[in-house]
Amino acid sequence: MKKSFRFYLALWGAKIGTLLLKIFRRNATFFPGKFALKVCPDFIGRIQKPKTMIAVTGTNGKTTVCNMIEDVLKDNKYDFIDNKYGSNIDAGVATTLISGVSFMGKSKKDLAILEVDERSAPKIYPYLTPTYLVCTNLFRDSLMRNAHTEFISGILTKYIPKDTILILNGDDLIVSNLAPENKRMYFGIDRLDTDTEECENISRDIIACPKCDTKLVYDYVRYNHIGKAHCPKCDFKSPEIDYLATKLDLENMKMTLKIGEREEEYDLISDNIINIYNIISVITVLKQLGLSKEQINESLKKLKIVDTRYTEETVNGVKIITHLAKGINPIACSRVFDYTRKYKGNKAVFLIVDDLHEAVKGSENTSWQYDTDYEFLNDESIKQIIIAGARYLDGLVRLEMAGVNKEKIVYERDELSALDKLKLEGIDTVFILHDLYSMELKDAAKNKVEVMIKNLDKKEK
Ligand SMILES: [Zn+2]
Repeated sequence: MKKSFRFYLALWGAKIGTLLLKIFRRNATFFPGKFALKVCPDFIGRIQKPKTMIAVTGTNGKTTVCNMIEDVLKDNKYDFIDNKYGSNIDAGVATTLISGVSFMGKSKKDLAILEVDERSAPKIYPYLTPTYLVCTNLFRDSLMRNAHTEFISGILTKYIPKDTILILNGDDLIVSNLAPENKRMYFGIDRLDTDTEECENISRDIIACPKCDTKLVYDYVRYNHIGKAHCPKCDFKSPEIDYLATKLDLENMKMTLKIGEREEEYDLISDNIINIYNIISVITVLKQLGLSKEQINESLKKLKIVDTRYTEETVNGVKIITHLAKGINPIACSRVFDYTRKYKGNKAVFLIVDDLHEAVKGSENTSWQYDTDYEFLNDESIKQIIIAGARYLDGLVRLEMAGVNKEKIVYERDELSALDKLKLEGIDTVFILHDLYSMELKDAAKNKVEVMIKNLDKKEK
């Protein structure tokens, strides 16, 4: 697309706007792009872009994957633009692209890493062709925003440019069938001891063969619709995996990645299966960019899964783990509940997952709670569950439906005063499961638990 007068007006306005925002110490993460798109609606198509562009999309994990790719690249002295501190919709992507060009619109960088919201595909891909597009997974998400997975996979297939090479989760049958005409490679994890024949989860987003509507046969299920399946009637089945983790050694935190006939050993920085998928997708991308196994592994080893999502510390022998569990997102929540129940030792759980907050301007409805596996919290090793926040009564109903003994449950509106009832005797780990919008509350709760543990110790002495 040619650069029109409108384009320059949009670019210069956005550049001056960025400068002003900087002077007033405001973050220029969204408004320059929003302005540019207002003045010139096809701005993303007209702006000069880096030669290589990596886009990352999917229901869960896209921020984590982008962060890891960016950190490894930075560690290896690559120069690139990204929307790490910006938004992942069209305005955020436009803002990032603006930061990568000169005042006259010439591209200054050769590489871009872009997190792209699935729902924004129609506003971005007609104007921008990613060299590689990673899709981490596709699950049911906010009903109001994302409707259902067929709708999301439908818009992705419709709008992903034909020349984009796809890097797809091959263990996700919805993802593996995106844009079937495009060149692709799959990443995945070989069968695990913990995989089951039957699905333990409430929700599974693909049950019937998309080609002939016959009920799919799952060879094994990992969680929800993640696993391996085939259609008993036609040729539809899970694909062969190109980047396959064959040996997961969680004791020593190592994995073997089989790439064709070659095997490479990598260190793991998380024992959470969702993050292991994220790590494999990151390695697959970095390999395409030409990084060696050593370069990738040495840099990956230095990383930590970003603190806002997961923290752990031990106070006088009691562990405190904070874990992001997104409300409205049933699969993200269920994975965290599963991680919590399987974590060794006796646990107390402080649950402040919510869908009502000023930041989200109210809530849609509570249906997501009934797609979430609260049943996982009904576990012998979980000795107490404290549920608080605006949705505490909805949560209580759901926990009771899941069969959790009411004597184990503390329910109260005010989060921090509910925490007063935490019983630490015999508890090895306190889990604080919080939402994206309750970061400050999470920190306050963590501090309070720390003090409670220390006081308990004094009393005993
Ligand atoms: Zn079929």
